[in-house]
Parts: sequence; structure tokens; C-alpha cells
Amino acid sequence: MRLKKGLMISAIATASILALGACAGGGAEEETPAAPEVEEFEAGTTMAELNEAGKITIGTKFDQPLFGLKGLDGKPVGFDVEIGKIIASELGIPEDGIEWVETVSANREPFLENGTVDLVIATYTINDKRKEVIDFAGPYYNAGQDLLVLEGNPEGITGPEDLEGMPVCSVAGSTSEANIAEYGVELITTDTYSNCLEPLRSGQVVAVTTDNVILAGLADQNPGEFEVISNPFTEEPYGIGLTHGDTEFRNWINDLLEEIYEDGRWADAWEATAGTVLKTPEPPAVDRY
Ligand code: GLU
Repeated sequence: MRLKKGLMISAIATASILALGACAGGGAEEETPAAPEVEEFEAGTTMAELNEAGKITIGTKFDQPLFGLKGLDGKPVGFDVEIGKIIASELGIPEDGIEWVETVSANREPFLENGTVDLVIATYTINDKRKEVIDFAGPYYNAGQDLLVLEGNPEGITGPEDLEGMPVCSVAGSTSEANIAEYGVELITTDTYSNCLEPLRSGQVVAVTTDNVILAGLADQNPGEFEVISNPFTEEPYGIGLTHGDTEFRNWINDLLEEIYEDGRWADAWEATAGTVLKTPEPPAVDRY
């Protein structure tokens, strides 16, 4: 249960105003402006430390339309970024207190382990191997791995089974790389999915593979050039990466996710970003492992 400091203050203020009103016969109009609704965090928790510092460092993608794409003003935009802003604001941190750091697939665990970032919100699949070194709140979205091909699908590819022995591009350190390797493809890896687009254009590879929603964003960004097969073959629950063992912070973020599923902030964040291209899904159940 997350107790809001602001709400408590308002309750006390209302009680005092009522008491004043009773004595002085009607001062109730002079209501003070509502205090920001930030919790009173228990000393020693990560939430208290971040709140006290007034800043947070969040790792996200900088080249993935709809989820995390660095804008012309240098700030990233997308669904992951919106989730990060909600978490920061609930910690009492203003938007200009968020330092956005680019994380690519391969450096997400190291950046959390060595303290480069406080959180990673970056199309980051929750899995057991990663849970050995970091922890995850969430999931806050369920994606699935898919294939991106040239518009018109000249090779007639319908799924990963069609790709045996064929050149396919993916990203080092991702689940996409590990999953597609099981299909006997000729795997070409790079550090970001946007770097796979030129090899696809030039015919160096016949497909790019990662999560359907990342591919949808890349297709949308390059109209008429690419298409997503739309035959997802894995489950990719997106989590919020945090320091291994920080159960209080994980529980707090999980509570917050459930709150924003309920109050509409999750759907608003989706609709303002990924929802411009993709249908609004039901939010997934939080996994309190
Ligand atoms: N969701 C997958 C992963 O976390 C693929 C997308 C990505 O690399 O960001 O590995």
C-alpha cells in the first residue's frame, strides 16, 4: 500500500480548516494549494535516496521508435520513456532531474551492476538468466519476437523455420539473438536494431529479427520499405531492470505499475507513444517472483 504524503497533508489541512471554520464561523474558502502527492519514503530505501537527491539515471534505447527514440532536442521519447517519467515523478523527481543514458541490448546488465544507471527501461525481456545478476519489476508489456523483411516479402518468408542457412541480422546480447540461433540461420549481429536496416535494404540479409513492436516502429519510421511478418514465435515480457536484491524498490515499482494500470496512466502513456501505431493491449499481470 503506497501512502501519499500529499494526501495526508490535505487530510490534515481539511481537518484544520473545518476546525477553524467551526471556531471563526467560515474561513473555509482560504484553502491552501494542494501539496505534490509524493510519498514519505522509509529512510535508507532507494526510493528515499533518489527522492532526496532529486535525480535519477535511467537507461533506455535511443534508436527505437515508439519505445525509446532520441528526439531532435536530444531527449528520448516513447513508451519506455513515459514509464520512466511516471516512476520519477512518483519519487518526487522532476523531468529535468532525469538523466537519460543510452543502453544498447548488451550493456543493460553491466550498467545496472556497475551503477551507471539506477533503472533500465529498454524493451528489456525478463528472464531467469538476467535475474541472476539484476532484478526486474513488471512486466509492463508483453511483446513477441518476429521478423522484418523487405516490403512485399520477396523471399516469401512466413516464420523462422524458413530461414535455415539464410543471413539474418539481430543484436548481440539480446534474447532475439539467442532465440533465432536455434533455427540454424547465418546470424549477423550488430549493436542496435537500426544498424540492421541497411544490410536488409542492400540484400546482405533477408530478415531482421527482434520483438514485433520494435520492428513495427522501424517499419513505421521507413514507410514503404519494410514489413513485419506478424507471426510472433516467442514471449518477451518487458520488465524494469534494477539492482539485484533491491526488493523494496522492486515491490514499490510493482505497486506503482498496478496503480497506473488502474488509474489510466499506463494506457495514456501507451496511446501517446506506441499506440499511435499499435493497438492498446490489456496491461499484463505483474510478476512478484
Ligand atoms: N526484448 C529483447 C531483449 O531484451 C529484445 C529487444 C532488445 O534487445 O532490446 O533482449
